[in-house]
Amino acid sequence: MKVLHKVSDLKAELKAQRLANKSVGLVPTMGALHAGHASLVSRSLAENDVTVVSIFVNPTQFNDKNDLAKYPRTLENDCLLLENILNIFVDKELIAFAPTVEEVYPEPDTRQFSYPPTDEVMEGGFRPGHFNGVCQVVSKLFMMTEPDRAYFGEKDFQQIAVIRRMVEDQKFPLQICACPIVREEDGLALSSRNALLSPDERKIALNISQALFASQHYAKSHTLKETKQWVIDTINAVEGLEVQYYEIVDGNSLQSLNEWDDSDYVVGCITVFCGAIPVRLIDNIKYKSC
Ligand code: AMP
Repeated sequence: MKVLHKVSDLKAELKAQRLANKSVGLVPTMGALHAGHASLVSRSLAENDVTVVSIFVNPTQFNDKNDLAKYPRTLENDCLLLENILNIFVDKELIAFAPTVEEVYPEPDTRQFSYPPTDEVMEGGFRPGHFNGVCQVVSKLFMMTEPDRAYFGEKDFQQIAVIRRMVEDQKFPLQICACPIVREEDGLALSSRNALLSPDERKIALNISQALFASQHYAKSHTLKETKQWVIDTINAVEGLEVQYYEIVDGNSLQSLNEWDDSDYVVGCITVFCGAIPVRLIDNIKYKSC
């Protein structure tokens, strides 16, 4: 596995691969890799000749400096995890691309991306500028890598919808591949932020996925509005958890729904603060899939 830090080295490497007619998959990450990321990397390795995994904590998508400062950074372990995956795909190539902030942003990125209403609700509402930062870094990674396919996790459900809009808007000639959420055995959605939870907070956090799963049954005999309120009340009743929002939305437009029958693709998206120094956890559940 090659570990590259410079955009020029990445471009040179990929140019050679392209000349040899190799297909390229891109997996953008912020590092602190876990089995959720590994599922994206494995899929890319299976579907492409060359996979680029970017490891970059992107400052422009953090609207909270403290959140950015405490985000885990574990490059050495990340490379070990990637080497282990590559061992299963012996005939494939894997490049870890871990640039510095100066390398990605030699000058401030003043581009504005706006995809209303998809980027205005939920995460867009509570984290102003977040999706603009995501689009800035993802579009830069697309331009550096020119991948055939790019892989994103449904854990960040809204992010995929926004990126699909950006790909359409900027006419990037690539395919967006959405990968299902990977969970711990007990149901907690894997997240780099889980490393910030104390053992007690980790136990408490489990109530989030449990409430979401239980709500799939509750939904069968209750209205959408009752189900939404039930999830919020059930989680808020747990000491140490505080729901920031829970919205039941159309899975394509991300707009809130009033009735189950308003869409064929219905997804509940939640953000919860967990613990004394709150860790912000997100999760989602499908009530109807298309
Ligand atoms: P991050 O490093 O958190 O920015 O995540 C990088 C990519 O991995 C994003 O596309 C995430 O949606 C995806 N991802 C993170 N956690 C999971 C998970 N538990 N299951 C599936 N994909 C995930």
